[in-house]
Amino acid sequence: MFHSRAVRRALFILGCMAAQAVHAQGPQPTAVVVENVRIFDGTSARLSAPSNVLVVGNVIQAISTDPIADPTGASVIRIQGGGRTVMPGLIDNHVHIFMSASRQEDMLDPKTTPEILQSRAAEEATLMLLRGFTSARDMGGPVFDFKRSIDQGKTVGPRIYPSGAMVSQTSGHGDSRLPSERSRRFFGVASKGECLGVNFIADGRDEVLTATRENLRFGASQIKVMAGGGAASAYDPLDETQYTLDEMLAAVQAADDWGTYVTVHAYTPKAVRRAVEAGIKCIEHGQLLDEPTMKLLAKKGIWLSLQALDEAPESQAADVKAKKHTVVEGTDNAFKWARKHKVKLAWGTDFMFAPANNKNQNADILKLKQWLTSFETLKLVTHDNAQLLALSGPRNPYPGKLGVVREGALADLLLVDGNPLENIQLIADPARNFVVIMKDGKIYKNTVRQGTSQ
Ligand SMILES: [Zn+2]
Repeated sequence: MFHSRAVRRALFILGCMAAQAVHAQGPQPTAVVVENVRIFDGTSARLSAPSNVLVVGNVIQAISTDPIADPTGASVIRIQGGGRTVMPGLIDNHVHIFMSASRQEDMLDPKTTPEILQSRAAEEATLMLLRGFTSARDMGGPVFDFKRSIDQGKTVGPRIYPSGAMVSQTSGHGDSRLPSERSRRFFGVASKGECLGVNFIADGRDEVLTATRENLRFGASQIKVMAGGGAASAYDPLDETQYTLDEMLAAVQAADDWGTYVTVHAYTPKAVRRAVEAGIKCIEHGQLLDEPTMKLLAKKGIWLSLQALDEAPESQAADVKAKKHTVVEGTDNAFKWARKHKVKLAWGTDFMFAPANNKNQNADILKLKQWLTSFETLKLVTHDNAQLLALSGPRNPYPGKLGVVREGALADLLLVDGNPLENIQLIADPARNFVVIMKDGKIYKNTVRQGTSQ
């Protein structure tokens, strides 16, 4: 199997034992007992008393302060927790795994084949899991193939909630054509982004319906629609509202008929209010909202998936930098008002086109210190984010409880060397501080000495 330098380095850091787990070589245990740990369960501000956790198959079967005997008939791995902390796996609710794995210029380069881009994305998924992210909500891009491969155990990566291609109007935030490219409806051909499965440029009710249903056909767990101007895109001003109410309604109806929801990229009150009127269930970004619109989100129970974004890199065009600056400036108010009015808040990174920065996914969580306590932050990136994942309802690819350490929940666990409630900095260095990473009951990293019993 081909691995990039970054993957090789990660495997090296994890050591031989973990590398075997990453390649899923050797039999996986049918039960795991993690002994003598204190638990951050995703919802309580205090760690549990010293406890033992039993995982059977992919489920947390028991949590007890008493010793846990081997379940009969199971081959069991016992991990000596040594007083460390067990916590739920991290969840990033706004990723673009495909686009975060390559630079924009590489994606446009004809020499970079779709196969190369896909293999980089699969490697990026592996690194994401090894950073302790056991679930990721993908907000656009061709991820269906490696998501399936992960679910089948052929590729290592997080649980992926895919949106498929981002649905955008012509000249919208998802219109990634080069300036010289014409619309396929007016003398042009399908653009590279559309051919790769990054976006659908869809205008009018009919095309929006087809785009939405095409994503659902491939297995999208939610639909991502561009409802307003974006910072990184070339043509659309930040204050632009995208899609007429009728077009937005078409996406919502098709998603709702399929049992799931639409989330929209939007910053401004006008874009958000129109999308809310159409019946969308979640806003991505929202950094330029005013307080009355924030109150409306709270009143209607609409999710706000916020990010603490960085300024655009110096290398970007001046107008892109200016747009991004406006968004970054709005972030403070967005977090403050969302908290004040108790909007349902989710968090994500939204990394794109800068593969060298992906290693900062964990450190990005620490930016939340400006607005949230350590407990609130840890709850947000586990329990709260999992509530948004569950919004996919019958289209949830991983039914079961995520984001909590509780009997009956799915076994996505981290063993942390220290107490992240007291020292949240620990989560920024997963290679060092996450000594066990488990997803769906399977161990992908374990640097603790362990005993096996039969
Ligand atoms: Zn995004």
